[in-house]
Amino acid sequence: VNGIVQGVGFRPFVFNLATSLKLKGFVNNASNGVEIEIEGKDDQLEKFFFQLENNPPPLSEIQSFVKSKINVCNSKNFIIQPSEPNEAASTLISPDMSICKDCLKDIFDPENRRYLYPFTNCTNCGPRYTIIKSIPYDRPFTTMQPFKMCPNCQREYDDPRDRRFHAQPNACSTCGPKIWYEDNSAQIMTEDNLSSFTRLATDLNNGKMIAIKGIGGFHLCVDALNDSAVKILRSRKNREQKPLAIMVSSPDDINDIAHLTKNEMNLLTSAQKPIVLLEKNKRYNLAQSVAPDNNRIGVMLPYTPLHAILFKILQEKYPHIKALIMTSANISDEPIAIKNETARKKLSRIADHFLMHNRDILIRNDDSVAMEINSKTVFFRRSRGYSPKPIFLNDDASDVLAVGGELKNTICITKGNQAFLSQHIGDLENYEANLSFEKVTSHLGKIIEAKPNAVICDLHPEYFSTKWSLEQKQYPVFQAQHHHAHMASVMAEHHIHNNVMAIILDGSGFGYDGNIWGGEFLMGNLTTVERFAHFQYLPLAGGEKAIKNPWRTAVGWLYSIYGDRLPQLPFMEDQEISIIKHMIDKNLNSPLTSSCGRLFDCVSAMCGVRSNIAYEGQAAIELMQMVEHNNQYDSYAYEITYPEVTIKPILDAIIIDLNNGVNVSTIVGRFHQTIVQLLTDLAILAKRRYPINEIVLSGGVLQNEILLMGLMASLTNAGFKVYMNEKVPINDGGLSLGQAAIGRELLKQNLETVKYSIYK
Ligand code: ZN
Ligand code: ZN
Ligand code: FE
Repeated sequence: VNGIVQGVGFRPFVFNLATSLKLKGFVNNASNGVEIEIEGKDDQLEKFFFQLENNPPPLSEIQSFVKSKINVCNSKNFIIQPSEPNEAASTLISPDMSICKDCLKDIFDPENRRYLYPFTNCTNCGPRYTIIKSIPYDRPFTTMQPFKMCPNCQREYDDPRDRRFHAQPNACSTCGPKIWYEDNSAQIMTEDNLSSFTRLATDLNNGKMIAIKGIGGFHLCVDALNDSAVKILRSRKNREQKPLAIMVSSPDDINDIAHLTKNEMNLLTSAQKPIVLLEKNKRYNLAQSVAPDNNRIGVMLPYTPLHAILFKILQEKYPHIKALIMTSANISDEPIAIKNETARKKLSRIADHFLMHNRDILIRNDDSVAMEINSKTVFFRRSRGYSPKPIFLNDDASDVLAVGGELKNTICITKGNQAFLSQHIGDLENYEANLSFEKVTSHLGKIIEAKPNAVICDLHPEYFSTKWSLEQKQYPVFQAQHHHAHMASVMAEHHIHNNVMAIILDGSGFGYDGNIWGGEFLMGNLTTVERFAHFQYLPLAGGEKAIKNPWRTAVGWLYSIYGDRLPQLPFMEDQEISIIKHMIDKNLNSPLTSSCGRLFDCVSAMCGVRSNIAYEGQAAIELMQMVEHNNQYDSYAYEITYPEVTIKPILDAIIIDLNNGVNVSTIVGRFHQTIVQLLTDLAILAKRRYPINEIVLSGGVLQNEILLMGLMASLTNAGFKVYMNEKVPINDGGLSLGQAAIGRELLKQNLETVKYSIYK
């Protein structure tokens, strides 16, 4: 049996299944999975195979299952054969998994020896990736090493019939890690389990902010119904408007917060327990400042015993606290704190008190963020619960290391046919994040024992990841164009090797002509790409400054298009238009861009939705939220002046509508429909020249569900087979997988670079 079948309780599962069916033989860990030799009556064997394939342990994932007949051995019993030392090397490390139902029962059963014990876990749940220092995955090589199992725990660990057989982090209150509660000058307030939780609950009720140590880092926690507490959190954390995620005790508590579809429910309650972006409902009653100006709210359920106990205490003492803010404990964009010492140092002026524990977090791992769009899961961040679970590729190739982009960075290391995408590393714009990047790269490399034959990075010369790669003298370095990597990420996920069309709608990425790309129509495969068409090049007055202030993009574009006949729109009042004009006239710090993200910014500013942003994507998100879901909108007229998609006709139409007082939600709906229509037309046009029927969609702008669903439907209607990212983030968090796919293919074909061209 191949796949994720080691370290997930697979052998005890086989053992228990075989013995219950009175079958004989053995099970062991083999170099690439699990090997079973089994003998018995035919009908019992049938049952065995059926259960094996249909009801494997929750954390396992069977990739392939090969059977063959051998001579009867007349075994007397069924045994688990011990692992050979070298076999552990190929063990796949499981992600950190949320507490399972059985362990939940244990911690809430007053008769159980793990009653209210916050580090309860078993083979089916608990921390893995964030506690493993090196392989093999054995307790001495984890941060559980200082805790010696007591006789009761050891007995469970040694018994194949026990749920805790070989559960490396197995522990109880006698022998395992402990929590304590301290103030912001590191003075211990209480060490007792129950009184720590009780004081924490009381503090939350009093509007205090607590740093809580979790699985992959610290959270900052306040009562999500207490607006002044949430405001204090925002100001201390230096996070003005970006929505904050909440944790609620159970799906029932979402009734007064958000809509919940069946798919969303499944995702929310899955063993991974990601943050799911749900649509607020009419009864939404959280503090105003939790997710201002946003139709959605990020919700997750308790995923550690510690969280579960906290909510239990809250329900008993302060039942009105139905939701807690649980946001990464960091200051603005620094990585989430993981060490007790760092947390004390960095958070003492942010958090009032700390819920600490003494199980070290070896490597940080943020909460994952996902959304259900059209019954597909779209990842905004793939991290805790998912990383380092491999993505299976359809071919073998040399191992490579791909280092991702600059923002929402992840890295990807491949080994054979498996691609290991790292956890979310974040924006590589500060020193702490750079250190984190290096640590994740070496840690992931170590635990999967890959031997990279090449490094693949972005084309952007200023990205930290590019500079880092070019310093790695031991490997050949390949550079992959940003949007080609987005395209390749979808191809890798869906095992596509032939030519495809790619519609990549993105914020920004360095193009092979040196301009900033982002509205790209590409054609080709992993090693040859043609830029078939792109959004019109327009100047970005002030570069980075324009990204933060969409009004600048809008004025710059309108002025470039209309010159002295610049239309007067309300959003321009009080803005320094002359500065922008001057910059465009003199071509001062105004790089050209074909970015689709900037087009959304421009329209957002023009429609008076948002002129300045406090977080990435804000202008586009608030624009999209103006669209009424059930409405059909007509497209504006548009024009494709090969190879450019002309922007002027779209802006013309928007200006006319604005001047005629058409309501903004209609304008925004028409604008979205226009983008969908024109890209569909472009695809149909392209198909006349190239007989390609497969289209891949990727890029950060496609986190916009109206656009993504619209394109999917429209392209499918036009007869195309459409693919998008479903396993890795559709934004830059998925870039490294695409880079890795490109690098492997270059090595395979013995090529030195990707062949990039522009359609003529
Ligand atoms: Zn469990
Ligand atoms: Zn114990
Ligand atoms: Fe991108």
